Parts: sequence; C-alpha cells; structure tokens
Amino acid sequence: PKAEANGTAKPEEEGEKQDEEDKEDKAAQSLLNKLIRSNLVNTTNQVEVLQRDPNSPLYSVKSFEELRLKPQLLQGVYAMGFNRPSKIQENALPMMLAEPVCVPSGSSPQNLIAQSQSGTGKTAAFVLAMLSHVDASRKWPQCLCVSPTYELALQTGKVIEQMGTFYPEVKLAYAIRGNKLDRGMKIQEQIVIGTPGTVLDWCAKLRFIDPKKIMVFVLDEADVMIATQGHQDQSIRIQRLLPQNCQMLLFSATFEDSVWRFAQRIVPDPNIIKLKREEETLDTIKQYYVLCNCKEEKFTALCNIYGAITIAQAMIFCHTRKTAGWLAGELSREGHQVALLSGEMMVEQRAAVIDRFRDGKEKVLVTTNVCARGIDVEQVSVVINFDLPVDRDGNPDNETYLHRIGRTGRFGKRGLAVNMVDSKHSMNILNRIQDHFNKKIEKLNTDDLDEIE
Ligand code: ADP
Repeated sequence: PKAEANGTAKPEEEGEKQDEEDKEDKAAQSLLNKLIRSNLVNTTNQVEVLQRDPNSPLYSVKSFEELRLKPQLLQGVYAMGFNRPSKIQENALPMMLAEPVCVPSGSSPQNLIAQSQSGTGKTAAFVLAMLSHVDASRKWPQCLCVSPTYELALQTGKVIEQMGTFYPEVKLAYAIRGNKLDRGMKIQEQIVIGTPGTVLDWCAKLRFIDPKKIMVFVLDEADVMIATQGHQDQSIRIQRLLPQNCQMLLFSATFEDSVWRFAQRIVPDPNIIKLKREEETLDTIKQYYVLCNCKEEKFTALCNIYGAITIAQAMIFCHTRKTAGWLAGELSREGHQVALLSGEMMVEQRAAVIDRFRDGKEKVLVTTNVCARGIDVEQVSVVINFDLPVDRDGNPDNETYLHRIGRTGRFGKRGLAVNMVDSKHSMNILNRIQDHFNKKIEKLNTDDLDEIE
C-alpha cells in the first residue's frame, strides 16, 4: 500500500493545496457548466425588471415570432430546438431588439445589465441580439463581444455560428491570442468575439477594428471577468473607445457588489433584469452524522452505509484532492465503480467524468467541493460529506453545505445526507451547521443501520 495520504503531509501543505484549489478559476467552472449543459435550466422564479424609463411600456414576449426576427434567424432559432423564449429572454429580447439601435448621438440606446444563473439562456439572447442588429451588406465589425477566456470566447462563437447557420452572409472573427493578422489589415467580419486584451489591441493599437463603428457591445460573464486582474481595466478601456450611441449589454451569473460596481461603469443608463436563483432547502433531506476516530474509520463507516442501503447514486465530498484521490482508490479496491473529479483534471476531462456519472456509468462520484460547485446531478439521492465543508478560516461553510445537499423545488425528491465527524473540532462544525439551519442532524450508528431507510 502506498504511503498513506494524511500521515505524511504537514498541515500547512494541505492548506496550500486547498488554497490553490480554491483559486481555481471561475472561468474553468463556467466553461465546465457550458460543456455539460445541453438544456435550459428551468426556474420557477420570477424575473425582476428595472427599466431605465419606468414610464415606457414593458414588453415581454412569449414567442419568438413576436420578435419579428429576420426569417433566417427565426429558422436558426428553431433549428437549435428552441420553441419559446426562456424566462430571461422573454424580457431581455424585446429590450435588446428595440428599434432603433442606432439612436442619434447624444442619447443612449436600450442598454442592459442582466443577471441570471448559468444555463438560463443569456448567451442565446445576446447572440440573437447581435445577429439581428448586423447589417450583412456592410463589411466591417458592428458587434463586439468580450469573454473572459479564449475557451469561453470559442464556446460563444460556436453559438453565433450555430444560430447564424441560415444567415451565412454574416461572418464572425475571433480576437483571441494566437490569431495574428497582417499589419494595416481591416477586419471585414461583422461580428468580433474575443478576450479583453486582444480586443483592446485590435481596436486601439493595431486598428484592425474601427471601434467608432461598433453598434452593439456585449460584455459576457462579468463576474468571471472581474476575477482576473487587468480584465476589468481592459474592458473599461474598450468601452471608452466606443461611440456613445453604441448599445451596451452586460451579463453575469452572479451579482455581488463588485460586479455591480463594474457593471455600472461599463453600462450607462441601464435597464436591469435579474432572475433570482431558486432557493435550496433542507426540508426534504434526512440528515445524519456518524462519529469516527480517523479517516480509516470513516471509510469503514462509509462501506457499512453503502452495504446497508440501496443507493442509486451517491456523491462523496472531500476537503482536499489528496483525500479524494485516496478515497476513490480505496473504494475501487472494494469493488465499487467510482468516478473521481479532481482539480488537476482538464475541464474537458471533468466534463466527461460528469457526463458518465449522469449517464449512470458509475454509481459513486468522489469529488472536492471546488470541482463540483454548481453542478446539479438530479438523480443523486445520497450525499456524503466525508469532510464537512469549512471556509478558509476553518469556520462552517453553511452555503456550501446547503448547496451540496439541499434541493430546489424542482428536484423535490427525498434525499439522504451523511456527515462524517472525526474530531471534537468537526463535531463543533457540525453543531454550528445544525444550529444555523435549525434542523436536526441525527446520530447514526453504522453498526445498526436499520433506521436509515
Ligand atoms: P447561459 O448563457 O445563461 O448560461 P445559454 O444561453 O448557454 O445560457 O443556454 C443554456 C442552454 O439552453 C444551452 O444549451 C442553449 O442552447 C439552451 N437554450 C437557450 N435558450 C433556449 C430556449 N429559448 N429554448 C430552449 N433551449 C434554450
């Protein structure tokens, strides 16, 4: 047997690893979400709309026909399998498509700041807006979209190409690293998508793009954007090059203060659309804890639980990559089919692991929290906290706890959560979590598991 995981590592090493994992890019998470998502997230929550001019009528549409799209675009939308606008699209599309886009200089067009969780149709919405506003007969960039990373830009580019399938006169250029053009060249494509640094170079230094001719500016994934030093400044510098009557659109999955402050610098006079995240609840979850003395005992307890109940699929959360790797190894030695999601894997590999797990090819998914953040696997009925979620300071991370085991109205099925406790310290964490949610976490005796089912 290999050198046992924890025994050799100094606590500070573990801490550093954790930090590293924590820092793991928001961009990677966002890309992962896109790779594994093939459908709209349905939310039952209402959209909140704040109009720039509260007196103007509020339009929302229930069908794509009502938008009077170009026939080529309507065809593209239907070919993608969209039947009707998503919640956020119902309000955002009429606002973004409101004519005229090019308003007289001095006044600003319908600018928009929109926030909703990933998978609710934001990308499709602004892609449709860009394609609608383009004049295909003019051979210069008219719509500019910036994304936080190369990979995310490519992903959005794919959506533009797909939605524009029946509108081949409209062309797309990628302003991303590695895409070298000859000096003095002028870009003829009507839509340009890229990362902030390259876009800024193309507009200012290299002048491949005349920013004064841009009519629609999209800033996607604002929350990811501001997480990277420099992107924020570059975005603002790009925005300053654009004409005043250019339509500014900004999208974000979350909306903390820092995002909001940034959004207001980018988008003057905005309309605001927000779609709240669906609340998660512990109401339909049976919560237990198991007392152990060490990691090995936790493992034994886990095997007992596994043997005692019929588990469709389970997710097991560990604090570090190291523990996750160790546990996955032990479980597969016991003959379980285990999938491991770990921080050192490429995003594409992670997406493949999640896809396999969703398809039921493995019954157990072992993961660290960072890797699994924001991933819904609907059929999972058992969640095991091999380590309790704590934040950097070692305090209970209630939000992560709720997100790991909580359910939204949609997946209202009953679930089971088991927490492994292996020290006074972790017992204290558990008690604090219990107090926070004011819901009893019952003790489970793993030698007698009759009560659990
Ligand atoms: P977001 O940008 O908010 O993450 P996307 O625009 O990428 O969301 O949409 C998420 C998924 O839903 C994508 O697979 C997309 O093709 C699909 N989708 C978007 N709008 C619709 C719609 N109106 N009807 C059906 N599917 C849609």
